[in-house]
Amino acid sequence: MSQGHMIPMFDIAALLALRGASVTFITTPLNAARLRPALSPHHPISLVALPFPSADFGLPVCCESFDALPSPDLMRAFFEASKTLLAPSIRYLRRHPTPPSCVIADVFFPWAREIAREFGVPRLTFSGFNCFSTLCIRNLRAHGVLERVGSETERFVVPGMPHEVALVKAQLPAEAEARFVDLRAEMRDAEEMADGVVLNSFEELEREYLNVYRETTGKEAWAIGPVSLSNNPSNTINRGGKASTDELQCLDWLDQREPKSVVYVSFGSMGRLSPPQTAELARALEASGRNFMWVIKGGDGLPEEFKEEPVTERRMVVRGWAPQVAILSHGAVGGFVTHCGWNSALEGVCAGVPMVAWPLFGEQFLNEKLVVDVLRVGVRVGVERPGGLVEGEAIEKTLEEVMEGGEEGVLRRMRARALGEMARMAVEVEGSSYVNITRLIEYVLKHKS
Ligand code: UDP
Repeated sequence: MSQGHMIPMFDIAALLALRGASVTFITTPLNAARLRPALSPHHPISLVALPFPSADFGLPVCCESFDALPSPDLMRAFFEASKTLLAPSIRYLRRHPTPPSCVIADVFFPWAREIAREFGVPRLTFSGFNCFSTLCIRNLRAHGVLERVGSETERFVVPGMPHEVALVKAQLPAEAEARFVDLRAEMRDAEEMADGVVLNSFEELEREYLNVYRETTGKEAWAIGPVSLSNNPSNTINRGGKASTDELQCLDWLDQREPKSVVYVSFGSMGRLSPPQTAELARALEASGRNFMWVIKGGDGLPEEFKEEPVTERRMVVRGWAPQVAILSHGAVGGFVTHCGWNSALEGVCAGVPMVAWPLFGEQFLNEKLVVDVLRVGVRVGVERPGGLVEGEAIEKTLEEVMEGGEEGVLRRMRARALGEMARMAVEVEGSSYVNITRLIEYVLKHKS
């Protein structure tokens, strides 16, 4: 599983454990090894690593970029075999003094349905999406919109949304990656048949969308986030990855910068810009005259001076994995250039900083619409479809808008701060997400066989 799913899934597990649930987290040996340091011997999560013969399936041990994903056929073969692969974990759970009363499965694991059925317990899905995107995709499917849309560039409106959302096909996860269409359909079916969804979001952020989802599906949607704010051990330092840089080094550098003066740039765990795009971004960051911290994976196209001298007065270039939540929470960060992966965008919301929305693939184009048009805490960089090149001048302009931006810039920063405050209140005792976790646990207890 990619880090964008692993991190919030583990946070959700930890949150439920903190609220008194007994939680078993089933994952692969690689992920278990990454997560284990976050668990003290007395931590209330037992981590079960699957004896998971991924190499027999030709699956990569880990996936460092979207292009490196295994083929859909291979993934399907793995899905088919997954129940058998899970047999030892299921045997373990059967012998457990408290067998499961609920399965929360990543939406990429449609086969978890059968496991929940075997135990006779509810199955809830977690997709990593917010409610806005979940609803967009569901409504497009329910109304058969995509079958009626001809060309890739034809603009259409998503039905049943509280506010108009206009898209082109290339901005949707399945359409952008045609080879995953069938798999995505399976996932959506599994989501549709689940007893409810768990969302890394909070009521105040998406109230209208959550209500419409509940009304139209008749199902529960538990918004229990932002999970990055939850007080659990996986939140410290290097959630999900081996840091290529020391947290203290990043924070020291930030400590020496003026408040709100730094632009933080990151494209998530798998986002890669093309070499020409990397060069354009480097040019724009330099030309902006602003302080910046740029976390880059790969790094083809990075100017030589950035490689030779990654840390200067004005810049810090981190090649690899960075402690993002700690960086974003630092007072020196004044803006966030993000690929709009939902974890990152929500972490930006929590930090109360305005964003430059730069979607690359998947549902990121939908998140961009939420951040820019609905929440109005971001400025779009203007990519219309995956792979579109954005020129340096355009990037510079959006940086200026987000960091300054005249009257609208001031209002945007105020909205961002207010949302950050709401996010913190949501996770406090009796806040909306706290209450939703209580409701979720009550639901599970009520449906216990
Ligand atoms: N992340 C991090 N350091 C990095 C890159 C990513 O801590 O160098 C974390 C980030 O804070 C977020 C997650 O990894 O929690 C990335 O998830 P997101 O949904 O934003 O994007 P994805 O990687 O799935 O595209």
